[in-house]
Amino acid sequence: MASLAITVSSCSGSQPKSEADDMDYTVDRFADIEVLRYRVPGFEELTPQQRIYIYYLTEAAIAGRDMLWDQNGRYNLAIRDLIEGVYANYDGDREDSDFKALETYLKQIEFANGIHHHYSMDKFTPGFSQEWLEAQAKALPEGTLVRGDYAELMPVIFDPTVMPKRVNQAAGQDLVVTSACNLYDGVTQAEVERYYDALKDTTDLTPVSWGLNTRVVKENGKVVEQVYKVGGVYSPSIERVVANLEKAAEYAENDTQRDIIAKLVSYYRSGSLKEFDDYSIAWAEDTDSRVDFINGFIEDYGDPLGMTGAYESIVNFKNLEASKRTETIAANADWFEANSPTDPRFKKDKVKGVSAKVITAAILAGDSYPATPIGINLPNANWIRAAHGSKSVTLENITDAYDKAARGNGFNEEFVIDPETIALMEKYGAITDNLHTDLHECLGHGSGKLLPGVDPGALKAHGSTLEETRADLFALYYLADPKLLELGLLDNPDAYKAEYYKYILNGLMTQLTRIEPGKDVEEAHMRNRQLIAAWAYEHGKADNVIELVKRDGKTYIQINDYEKLRDLFGQLLAEIQRIKSEGDYAAGEALVEQYAVKVDPAIHNEVLERYAALDVAPYKGFVNPVYTPVMDKDGNITDVTISYEEDYLPQVMRYSRDYRTL
Ligand code: ZN
Repeated sequence: MASLAITVSSCSGSQPKSEADDMDYTVDRFADIEVLRYRVPGFEELTPQQRIYIYYLTEAAIAGRDMLWDQNGRYNLAIRDLIEGVYANYDGDREDSDFKALETYLKQIEFANGIHHHYSMDKFTPGFSQEWLEAQAKALPEGTLVRGDYAELMPVIFDPTVMPKRVNQAAGQDLVVTSACNLYDGVTQAEVERYYDALKDTTDLTPVSWGLNTRVVKENGKVVEQVYKVGGVYSPSIERVVANLEKAAEYAENDTQRDIIAKLVSYYRSGSLKEFDDYSIAWAEDTDSRVDFINGFIEDYGDPLGMTGAYESIVNFKNLEASKRTETIAANADWFEANSPTDPRFKKDKVKGVSAKVITAAILAGDSYPATPIGINLPNANWIRAAHGSKSVTLENITDAYDKAARGNGFNEEFVIDPETIALMEKYGAITDNLHTDLHECLGHGSGKLLPGVDPGALKAHGSTLEETRADLFALYYLADPKLLELGLLDNPDAYKAEYYKYILNGLMTQLTRIEPGKDVEEAHMRNRQLIAAWAYEHGKADNVIELVKRDGKTYIQINDYEKLRDLFGQLLAEIQRIKSEGDYAAGEALVEQYAVKVDPAIHNEVLERYAALDVAPYKGFVNPVYTPVMDKDGNITDVTISYEEDYLPQVMRYSRDYRTL
């Protein structure tokens, strides 16, 4: 339930850090997307052995790419082949409007790892006609298509009623049958739920994460799981992941890393979730190694029932200087837990092993590519977090790239109420944003406990939203605490207001730039942000805490009482913690439905219009750097170099070609 990726609000408008940097951070711009580059500062200062270790881990990371495409939809790989094939072989006018539309569609599906938008989950609408695509497909050179008959793909691409949504969360529908993701086949939601209810032993204190690495299907009328493993589903991909993990192990920094890799490989061979837990425990307990990575089926947002993990990998190394900040927070974890506004019955007596660090991402892959989280807190299994702690990281080279790319885009000037608030956000936006992420990841998700006997899955489809709400509220509440000044993390008692303003502005207004007119808020993190902002607005009305001010026909957020706002965050945190600790599904559902889902159409239209005038992309993602091995004359790897020149389409199409496994 504790799925923990945060997706950055690209509307942050965070303002520049000052150092000069001549890299062009923007790589591509299409539809609602901007693709950026990130730097990997410090890579050159690592040892050659560490660089080689990272290199093989990045190879393992990218090797799993096709699994995610297939998890996201059964026709995704075939459609990718077709569209890439047409794009590469087209010999007509490349300025032609159909071809231009095909190029945009290709960029969109590469960004989403499939034919559904990565965030809204809606199927893309091609800007070219079916007749045109069919003509291009017929003209393809012999042997270009290797995945079946393209005619079968046409309704999937063009008919808006076929597989319209990757993950459907609409209440009252069969979420399994109506979701286009490829995690279930021939089974209904009720059948899947019955199947897992029979497996779950509620007295097991160390329950495995059921369904994490399986597809549920019907065989001979019986509901069964097919396991992702060597020799099972996705075997060719997993074999290549494993081969690179084993090469990496030869260059590991220490025995702990070798042990972690051995456990992960063993799990990939057996498919045993007990072994995945063994690996997760070893991984969570390794807080000393410089180089680290995640690789596996991890976050469950892509599953309407929140069980199966999407393939994901991030390779990284610790940013020693910036980690001092998170280490300070983690060292005081017990103080934060003891002083939080939640009921003492729901607090942990001792916060175990919250480890936090700031990392430099070296590769983003699977579900973290090209769109990426800016913080990670794993493992997800609640009992492992309680017994062995969790590891929390902030990807600072990624947040830094967002900041640099957002310079001077006019966002704050358009939406922020006055120059004083803009100045405060420019001065403290970046640090309070980073602290928000640190607090959210290393304390928020790790705080609190369930009452004995409460099912960790009790909040069902609302679990992700409410968990993110809880972690965000924890961060917001403490951002304003004098403790942060005392710990030397902030130097101005008003600094927190920068993040408070931004959060309310985003939750009530500007995140709506990501939603099409007439649609509801669906994605868990967006629901969480609107829940918090709308609840605080509503409950602060009597005291006029947050005001919507009209000026020249434009709506602005004005926060009249920041201290009361903090108090409201504390009250809501206490309630959300109660809901989680008691497994109070009805109360959780009521909050989500009242505050998190519905959109005011007037505000929505206004925000869309004002935002369109700025021409800023609502979603951002990244190309990876390119790592090139240095070989000696005998063909042995001796070092690895890094370069930042590769562009977006060349990179994704190279990945499709060189890391094709399924
Ligand atoms: Zn989170």
